[in-house]
Amino acid sequence: MNVTRTTPPRPLDVAAVFPQLGPLARPAMRLHPRPGSPSPYDSSIGGPLLWPAHQPWLYCDMWHEGPAAPMLPVAQLYARDVPLLRPPGRADLLQVLWCPFEHPPEYKPPTKLFWRTAADVTDVLAAPPEPSGAEYDGYVPEPCVLAPEQITEYPDFLELSRELQQQLSDVSAWRAAGVVVDDSYAIAPQEFYGRELSVAPGWKVGGWPPWGLTDPVARFCVACGAAMSPLLTIPSYEWNDAGKGWVPYEDQARAAPGDDSASNPPGVQVSRGNHLQLYVCPKFPGTGHPHTDLIQ
Ligand SMILES: [Zn+2]
Ligand SMILES: [Zn+2]
Repeated sequence: MNVTRTTPPRPLDVAAVFPQLGPLARPAMRLHPRPGSPSPYDSSIGGPLLWPAHQPWLYCDMWHEGPAAPMLPVAQLYARDVPLLRPPGRADLLQVLWCPFEHPPEYKPPTKLFWRTAADVTDVLAAPPEPSGAEYDGYVPEPCVLAPEQITEYPDFLELSRELQQQLSDVSAWRAAGVVVDDSYAIAPQEFYGRELSVAPGWKVGGWPPWGLTDPVARFCVACGAAMSPLLTIPSYEWNDAGKGWVPYEDQARAAPGDDSASNPPGVQVSRGNHLQLYVCPKFPGTGHPHTDLIQ
């Protein structure tokens, strides 16, 4: 890890104003992918995987125009860099690949997850296949190194109880706590909560998922029925003008109003500007309890 990124503190401790939010706080690790030349021994987005030379590469099993489509590396995360991963058993490495084509019926790139033990991979595949095509360039991630950073998140406004939604929408509740949310922010308090206090934008592990395309939908493990946990959020940018309060200090000089040119080093576009959200079974990740995904 040779890059560092630091999210500015939130403008206020929202759980101090609305104590019912306290138990809903969750850790998340922002990944902050940045241009670089990761090796198979680094955590990366779009970088080379620590893939055993004797294990056949994965190809998509659906027909696409042209030669068979190799699955592409999306993320490689070592638990030493991203402790929130909580890998199963001895595993200490997560690899995420996708087919760079949108598959029906939901028109999203299908993903494969591998949990590995890095020490077991002594002979690394030297030349994985090059992409043979893609739905569009945004499905071929540019190699990036990571600067993982742990933060605290609260649920998307849409995921809160009606009671909490009402409290957060009430300007007088904020005023009573001494928080000015009318003049300085010029937006409704629930919007302020959504932009600045709840869910961080960008690539992240854990935390709370972003919602907006649809109302929140709980995901349940098909093998055991457990409520699934957000594993990885794959976004289409790390900031835009609405979310600049989350821009790390180190990037602020390149994130002036109207300048989003540095906001997406991996160049990933999911379903034209949305997120791909991966979920795993909290009880048995990687052991026959399949992950699931969702476009938001
Ligand atoms: Zn495919
Ligand atoms: Zn399960």
